Amino acid sequence: MADGIKWIGEGQRVPLSFCPHCNAELDGCSGIDNDARPDPGDFTICIECGAVAAFSRGLRLRRLTKREQREVAGDERVLAGVRAVLDARGKKHC
Ligand SMILES: [Zn+2]
Repeated sequence: MADGIKWIGEGQRVPLSFCPHCNAELDGCSGIDNDARPDPGDFTICIECGAVAAFSRGLRLRRLTKREQREVAGDERVLAGVRAVLDARGKKHC
């Protein structure tokens, strides 16, 4: 498993929404190092493209604000999650 991730939490159902980057249909998520259900404002990583999005009110996905993009850039767990998805997908890191 990628550096910075100890375990992946239980799968959780969320309302169907679409990745704001690749338009993949997404209706589930798993916590990184926790089993918690996501809250609005939590970050998530698209399992299809590895892009980071955030949960809106109603737990649908939205693009990050500029401020959130800066926050994510320094969050080792998010970066490790992105690397793990990209490795699994065989894509090059960006
Ligand atoms: Zn995506």
